[in-house]
Amino acid sequence: MIDDAIRVLAGDCTVITEGTDRQEYRGRMTTVVKPDNTVLVHDIDGYQPVAWLTRADSVSSDRADGFTLVAKKDTQTLRIAAHDQDGFAHYPASVAGPVVGTCPDCGGALVRSNGVHCVDCGDHYGVPTDATIRGDASNCDCGLPRMRVERGLAFDVCLDRDCESLDEAVSEAFDREWNCPEPDCDGDLRILRRGGLIAGCEHYPDCDTGFAMPAGVIDGQCRCGLPTFDTGSGTRCLDATCDPIGERSPEQATGDD
Ligand SMILES: [Zn+2]
Ligand SMILES: [Zn+2]
Ligand SMILES: [Zn+2]
Ligand SMILES: [Zn+2]
Repeated sequence: MIDDAIRVLAGDCTVITEGTDRQEYRGRMTTVVKPDNTVLVHDIDGYQPVAWLTRADSVSSDRADGFTLVAKKDTQTLRIAAHDQDGFAHYPASVAGPVVGTCPDCGGALVRSNGVHCVDCGDHYGVPTDATIRGDASNCDCGLPRMRVERGLAFDVCLDRDCESLDEAVSEAFDREWNCPEPDCDGDLRILRRGGLIAGCEHYPDCDTGFAMPAGVIDGQCRCGLPTFDTGSGTRCLDATCDPIGERSPEQATGDD
């Protein structure tokens, strides 16, 4: 369930801010308290809040006599006292983002914002930032959308890693596919997750050769022997420090560019 809520207080109130100086306002205002304790007090005029405190250390509210609210941050304090209450409520809140599908668990909208979230039940799926979410027609059997992620090949996997694992798919394709480029090492590169997906030497820690798997599709072989990746903005070697020349033909491979 979504446990984040936006608190809203509305009514004729007095707002007192204290910090470097003291201000006091009276009016019929609406106050919004966000889950990160940011407090925004709005009147009818303009878009700017009358008073605000971003990410307060503490916010306490009380329904006594309408409502009161006290927010504190360092030496700043924002107090609100209601003279006449129009509303005092908590509303469930989620992140907002473009809709990418429908939640198979609850039917709510799935939106993309730093991962994919259901706006109704709060289910969350981690998604690589470069992933493309596919349309309804290519949904997984579990009902979730699939994402397309390029890691050497274009992989289409379920949003839920427990359902279809991107790591397993990339491993199946590329584990032990390339030799460690260290001259004195006879190791293979294994596909591992170390934060992100990497191709790392099997002889670690004796050999610490390892490369983050680039976001892109393999389009050739570098003169160093490792594959090159088409990243959409150019070709690069698996080894980001290697001179990024994709060589396809032997003549070019020996050329002195
Ligand atoms: Zn849901
Ligand atoms: Zn699935
Ligand atoms: Zn090695
Ligand atoms: Zn190279």
